[in-house]
Amino acid sequence: MLNRRFPIGALALSACAVLLAACSPSSEESVPPSSAEVDAGEVNIYSARQEVLIKPLLDRFSEQTGIQVNLVAGRADELMQRLQAEGRNTRADVLLTVDAGNLHRATEAGFFQSIDSAVLQASVPEAYRDAEGRWFGLSMRARPIMYAKERVDPTSLANYADLVEPEWQGRICIRSSSNVYNQSMVAAMIAHDGVEATQQWVNGVVANFARPPQGGDRDQIRAVAAGQCDVALANTYYLGAMLAAGEGADYEVARQIGIVWADQDGHGTHVNISGAGVTVHARNRDNAIRLLEFLVSDEAQQWYAEANQEYPVKPGVEASEILRGFGEFKADAISLGGIGEHYPEAVRVMDRAGWR
Ligand code: FE
Repeated sequence: MLNRRFPIGALALSACAVLLAACSPSSEESVPPSSAEVDAGEVNIYSARQEVLIKPLLDRFSEQTGIQVNLVAGRADELMQRLQAEGRNTRADVLLTVDAGNLHRATEAGFFQSIDSAVLQASVPEAYRDAEGRWFGLSMRARPIMYAKERVDPTSLANYADLVEPEWQGRICIRSSSNVYNQSMVAAMIAHDGVEATQQWVNGVVANFARPPQGGDRDQIRAVAAGQCDVALANTYYLGAMLAAGEGADYEVARQIGIVWADQDGHGTHVNISGAGVTVHARNRDNAIRLLEFLVSDEAQQWYAEANQEYPVKPGVEASEILRGFGEFKADAISLGGIGEHYPEAVRVMDRAGWR
């Protein structure tokens, strides 16, 4: 299979590496290997995404390019520990994970190399990629306010700032501050408003907690439906996935939940990404870049976003029917690479407020 990124010399080299016979002195040098004989090679990806949510897309990439994809799926922390331990011996060419906080940690740890790709730059908005090309967003999620349709008048709630008002006392559910989603949200607030204003907000929200933080985002949504609280902050794909189930307990829960797109007259609702970068020790760098470029193609964007109930990062690609049902909103346009420096302070702010 011809690889359009490879100049002819590189193509011949890669054929030599794989098909020794084609390069032995006795072989007919004037006869190039047929396309079927040229091995397009492989690419190894460490993915914090569940296999089922990415594998069909990787298979499609292999079909189109002939490049074999080897997938190692695991938790973000485990994959990063593994990369650290493997060092230059790692087989990983690509690390895919969720949240700019994890991408920032991977960048700080030196796991990524800078990639200069016109395709990636044109497809991924600047706010959703690292300024030095070390990672690129592949899908987008928002963290709006979710509420019990039965008990909350959504016109009483427009901004994150409203959540500190006395009327929300004992009515807010949110997960632990150790979770990267909350750290990113608070880091973005610090970037916008400074530490002091953010501390005031965090103090006020913690004072209005319905219960000590427990469980994941999905559990906060369930708690709202169960009446343990009236509002929650949670990522959109959780609600999207519960609705996509089409039946069952979580589907019934999700039907009781409404969304307030916070801060529409201000910075916009906090959003984050899943994303990936090419590892610094990648042995299949060109294939890794091709994979990332494939993942931002219209076709891949649509499938990947829909499978995860996330928003495509690429402008012009339509979100799933369920997400379109959530309505249009203004997303916070802050550069997610730029909030990286505020994570340590974000954690301290939440600590000081007693947000467990
Ligand atoms: Fe999540």
